Amino acid sequence: MAKHKTHYEDCDILVVGGGMAGTGATFEARHWGRDMKIICVEKANIDRSGAVAQGLYAINCYMGMQWGENQPEDHVRYARNDLMGMVREDLGYDMARHVDSTVHMFDEWGLPMMKNEETGRYLREGKWQIMIHGESYKPIVAEAAKKSADKIYNRIMITHLLMDESQENRVGGAVGFNMRTGDFHVFRAKTVIVAAGGASHIFKPRAVGEGMGRTWYAPWSNGSAYALPIAAGAKMTQMENRIVLCRFKDGYGPVGAYFLHLKTYTQNANGENYEKKWYDQTKELVGEYIDHHPTPTCLRNHAFIQETMAGGGPIHMVTTEAFQDPHLETVGWENFLGMTVGQAVVWASQNIDPKYTNPELTTSEPYVMGSHATCSGAWVSGPEDLSPPEYFWGYNRMLTIDGLFGAGDTVGGSAHKFSSGSFTEGRLAAKAAVKYIEDKKAEGLKVSDKQCEDFKEKVFKPLETYTVAQNEITGGTVSPSYISPIQGLQRLQRIMDEYVGGIATNYMTNANMLKRGLELLAWLEEDLEKVGAEDYHQLMRAWELKHRAITSQCVTEHTMFREETRWPGYYYRGDHMKLDDDNWHCLTVSRRDPKTGKFSMEKVPVYHIVDENEKKKAS
Ligand SMILES: Cc1cc2nc3c(=O)[nH]c(=O)nc-3n(C[C@H](O)[C@H](O)[C@H](O)COP(=O)(O)OP(=O)(O)OC[C@H]3O[C@@H](n4cnc5c(N)ncnc54)[C@H](O)[C@@H]3O)c2cc1C
Repeated sequence: MAKHKTHYEDCDILVVGGGMAGTGATFEARHWGRDMKIICVEKANIDRSGAVAQGLYAINCYMGMQWGENQPEDHVRYARNDLMGMVREDLGYDMARHVDSTVHMFDEWGLPMMKNEETGRYLREGKWQIMIHGESYKPIVAEAAKKSADKIYNRIMITHLLMDESQENRVGGAVGFNMRTGDFHVFRAKTVIVAAGGASHIFKPRAVGEGMGRTWYAPWSNGSAYALPIAAGAKMTQMENRIVLCRFKDGYGPVGAYFLHLKTYTQNANGENYEKKWYDQTKELVGEYIDHHPTPTCLRNHAFIQETMAGGGPIHMVTTEAFQDPHLETVGWENFLGMTVGQAVVWASQNIDPKYTNPELTTSEPYVMGSHATCSGAWVSGPEDLSPPEYFWGYNRMLTIDGLFGAGDTVGGSAHKFSSGSFTEGRLAAKAAVKYIEDKKAEGLKVSDKQCEDFKEKVFKPLETYTVAQNEITGGTVSPSYISPIQGLQRLQRIMDEYVGGIATNYMTNANMLKRGLELLAWLEEDLEKVGAEDYHQLMRAWELKHRAITSQCVTEHTMFREETRWPGYYYRGDHMKLDDDNWHCLTVSRRDPKTGKFSMEKVPVYHIVDENEKKKAS
């Protein structure tokens, strides 16, 4: 251990992850906490990290309140509809009422926004989306964070949260290691804002072997946002609500601009509108939800999956009509160049020119995230002016551990935040964290050297394991006494894929499969004590895997608990194929006991605040 130097840093606000939410939190923390010490720690480099690393072509969440385009209430109704009723409306409303101010700052900071030449307004791609030339989106928000923080630490992966030893259930900071130097870093902090993104690669991806790493969701998003709070005993919500995306095949290029701006549409191999064919069957499963407008994302996936299973594939996006218009053709290509260059490369390699050939679509493997069209994540307090008592415990976006805050993908129950909403939520969390410190809620924190030393031993254990176990390698990477991170990852992915509703079973699972999945995950957890790492990069892989594994356990427990199929097209409970509003019109909340590792589950009411308030006003 002595060879890994330990660095100590004491601060007021520690931001874990410098993606969209983390940069928003770092920026806003400085606004309210002028004299506070603010540190942001990032696993990669904040200039190009997180889901927005490569850039975006649209900001997907902008109300346009200055022009009366949309109001926060409209966005709550939209998210509620898309999530089949299951959202935290207090959180969604709170984000929506602030998100425009965030976008206006991006504009001031130099993000190239497309404008509607006739109206002078931001150019709409859809009701909520505005179009940008967003290749440099991430460096621009990173600059704001860099100017606000006392220090940004790049290349440090946070592995554990520190807990206060003087008061139960209060956070005391976090620890991690530098992936370049191998140094150990202890951050003792009065508040921690976890903004570490969602989770890819917990389910087996479609692209394996030569294509490994090619997923829709950023392959480096490893679920630390969930694993850190889960391991510390924070409550989580809606972790069963994993996301499956319908995207261009093999490159996972985005379809939003195609549907909304280019007005392209899908059809089966016979040129038919297959969605209509599945209307009656879907109505049987979910009732009137299929008649909602817009059709919830999961139900559109459902029609796609059913059509493919019935032999109607491949499904195509009809681009050949729109691409005859030179302007739309340019937009179609630029859309990829700004955010998913790989899709253009895939088409080139497969000889697909969308002007003459309709490209194929696919449904992705499932991912876990809280800011896109699903809302898995931490159970947090809402804002005091909106939240019912069950949703409020003092500080906005504070988890069920005192002093621990979350934003972006970390926070559950509030879907459709996207990049702008995640940055906004980071701002909201930071404002509340400053208040928490000003209210003297972090007084008397105690984090002993022993706690830090114990974590240090744990963090570097995979290096020790490898050093000893490499002597027993029987061939290649096979050893009786350790597993490598990639071996562990592939085992995890198969368990999740085959038992918890991945692509192997067309997203189908049931209680018996989930039970078996949980058993296998428990054995994997045991074996992960023997994960070995030959260098610091593999050490990162080992910790990414451990974070993915604990996130997967939580997803599986939640999937087991909700005895209905709420979101056909995201996953199916074969033993409860129908949506069941009588018993399951509620949010699911879990807690893992850090001492025993056992999960407990509960149902929490879902309050439809927006229309309830309107009903009250009317009466
Ligand atoms: C493929 C894709 C396309 C999208 N398209 C759009 C779009 O067109 N428009 C739009 O508005 N939104 C879009 N989004 C949504 C948007 O990217 C997310 O909503 C947003 O990035 C979430 O912010 P976040 O901060 O929670 O996560 P991220 O931005 O992903 O940031 C998480 C950060 O945490 C860091 N991190 C992770 N683990 C650790 C750890 N253990 N220690 C330290 N640091 C860690 C990561 O490196 C990363 O920098 C898209 C998302 C994806 C995945």
